[in-house]
Amino acid sequence: MNYDAFADTLSRVVPGVSIRRHVPLAELTTFQIGGPANIVVEPVSQAEVVGVVRTCIAAGVSYRIIGLGSDLLVSDNGIDDVLIRLAENFSKITHMNNPTIRQDALKSQRSRIAIQEKIPQHVIYVEAGASNATVADAACTWGLSGFEFACGIPGTIGGAAIMNAGAYDGDFSNVALKVRCIDSLGHVVEVDNSQAGWSYRHSMMDMRGHVVLGAYLALQEEDSEVIAYKMQDFQARRSEKQPLEMPSAGSTFKRPEGYFAGKLIQDAGLRGYSVGGAQVSEKHTGFVVNANNASAQDVCELIAQVQQRVYEHSGVRLEPEVRMWGFN
Ligand SMILES: Cc1cc2nc3c(=O)[nH]c(=O)nc-3n(C[C@H](O)[C@H](O)[C@H](O)COP(=O)(O)OP(=O)(O)OC[C@H]3O[C@@H](n4cnc5c(N)ncnc54)[C@H](O)[C@@H]3O)c2cc1C
Repeated sequence: MNYDAFADTLSRVVPGVSIRRHVPLAELTTFQIGGPANIVVEPVSQAEVVGVVRTCIAAGVSYRIIGLGSDLLVSDNGIDDVLIRLAENFSKITHMNNPTIRQDALKSQRSRIAIQEKIPQHVIYVEAGASNATVADAACTWGLSGFEFACGIPGTIGGAAIMNAGAYDGDFSNVALKVRCIDSLGHVVEVDNSQAGWSYRHSMMDMRGHVVLGAYLALQEEDSEVIAYKMQDFQARRSEKQPLEMPSAGSTFKRPEGYFAGKLIQDAGLRGYSVGGAQVSEKHTGFVVNANNASAQDVCELIAQVQQRVYEHSGVRLEPEVRMWGFN
C-alpha cells in the first residue's frame, strides 16, 4: 500500500481535510499505549466523513474509526489501516426545534417509550465525536434528563452507540431514537432504535462495520439542579471505586453472566498482580492499568495470565471487553 499516494488522493477528493502521518496511538488512547498509525484523518463535517470513507472504499483501503480511544489496546507495532478520528472536531450538539424532524424521530420510538411509561419531550442530535461528558453537560444546561448515566464514560457518542455503553441506571439504547451511519457500501443510512440490535456492549452497527455519524437522543424535561446532583453522585461513586488517576481502558473484561469480573479476579488472588508495567489495579480489580510505561505486550500477557488463573480458580472464562487492535 502506497500511503503517500493515498494521502494525496484523499486531499484531492476531500480538500482541506486534516491528514497526519505516523501518529503514535499512545497519544490517542486513554491507556497511553500503542505504536504508530500510518495515516490519521480528522474530518470536521458529515460531508468530509462521507468523502473520506467513500474514498477508502473506492480504493479498497481498510479503515477504522477511533473516538477518544477509551476502549482500545493498540499493538506496539501500531496499525496499517487508515484511521478516521471522530472526536472534538466533529462534535456539534443540536437541540432539535424543527417539529417535522422531531415528530419523525419520535414516531419510531413511541411504542417502546410507552412501555417504559416515559414521554420524550425533547430531541437532540449529536455528532459522533462529541464526548459523553459534553453531551451530559449540555443536556443538564438545557434542563434535559436521561443522559446522566453516561457523564463519566470517557468516550464519544460514536463509541457509545457502537458498544451500547452503559453505567449505573442506563445504557445508550435507553436514550437513542436513531443513529445516523455510513454503511459498508458508503451509503448514509438512519438506523432506528429497534433495528440497532443493542444488547450488552453490542450493536448491529458494530457487527456490520457501520461508521456512526451521529445520534438522535430523546430526553425529558427536568430541573437542571436535579440533573446536576445526579451527575455529581455518579461521578463521586466512580472516583471512589475506579482508578481514574491511572491510564486504563476501563473494565478490561466483560461481565460474565452471573458474576463480576473484578470479584473473580480478586478471589483468584490477583489484586496488584503485574506483568512489566501493566498491573491489575489495586483499587478496582476489574481494571488493568498502565502503572509504569507498560507496553501493549505487557497488557496482553497480563490479560492472558488473568484469564488462565481465573479459569483455574473458578472455572469461568473471562472475555476481554477492551478492543485489541493490531494483534494476531
Ligand atoms: C476510566 C474508564 C471508565 C470507563 N467506564 C465505562 C462505563 O462505565 N461503561 C462503558 O460502557 N464503558 C466504559 N469505559 C469504556 C469506554 O469509555 C466506552 O466503551 C466508550 O463508549 C468508548 O468510546 P470511544 O469514543 O473512546 O471509542 P474508542 O475507544 O475510540 O473505540 C472503541 C470502538 O468503537 C469504535 N468506534 C468509535 N467511534 C466510532 C464511530 N463514530 N463509528 C463507528 N465506530 C466507532 C471503534 O472503531 C472501536 O471499535 C470506560 C473507560 C475508561 C478508560
